[in-house]
Amino acid sequence: MTVDSELVAVWREVVATARRTADEGLVVGTSGNVSARVGDLVLVTPSGVRYDRLGDTDLVAVGLDGEQRIGALRPTSELPMHLAVYRATDARAVVHTHAVHATAVSTLVDELPAVHYMCAALGGAVRVAPYATYGTRELADHMMEALRGRTGCLLRNHGTVVYASTLEAAFDHTAQLEWMCHVWLAARAAGTPSVLAQTEIARVAERLRGYGQRG
Ligand code: 13P
Ligand code: ZN
Repeated sequence: MTVDSELVAVWREVVATARRTADEGLVVGTSGNVSARVGDLVLVTPSGVRYDRLGDTDLVAVGLDGEQRIGALRPTSELPMHLAVYRATDARAVVHTHAVHATAVSTLVDELPAVHYMCAALGGAVRVAPYATYGTRELADHMMEALRGRTGCLLRNHGTVVYASTLEAAFDHTAQLEWMCHVWLAARAAGTPSVLAQTEIARVAERLRGYGQRG
């Protein structure tokens, strides 16, 4: 596979993932953004363009320095967040959404209480990054602090950010995070939720490494 056809294949995955965030109700309209890293290039969704309108010729790629390398459309306004993750981690994919329950939780607490063991898939109890205006360096800095030892966090009064080694995993973990936020809101509305101890979350993290089918 040449570099070009590999890039187009990854671009199609980026677009498909962004469409999924809209189709599965994790964003409304052009909210949220998705990226994937290929070598030193980062493929990102363009700013303010509906995901169902994106085709192969709309491919947008930037370098880790933020310079646009491919495409005519302007990259997502949240480029500082995406690039900060790629510069500091071995992430291959980043998904940002405005999922409704996650955004609601981001207005209530500094950390999503560990009401379900699946928080172990994100590295532990999920933190909420302090608010800063969308698209700013300050927001990216707050996010990186909240991501310490985690692969996902909430952004106060804004939404979610999750990174992973594949777009599929970044999407799935985003959906799990949104689901956990829904669980906590439901439990809290009904009473006082119990939370899991840190030792149990660590045990689950270890166990999840062997989850699913072998090979
Ligand atoms: P973009 O359309 O620029 O990606 O912005 C959407 C968003 O979610 C900003 O936080
Ligand atoms: Zn956003």
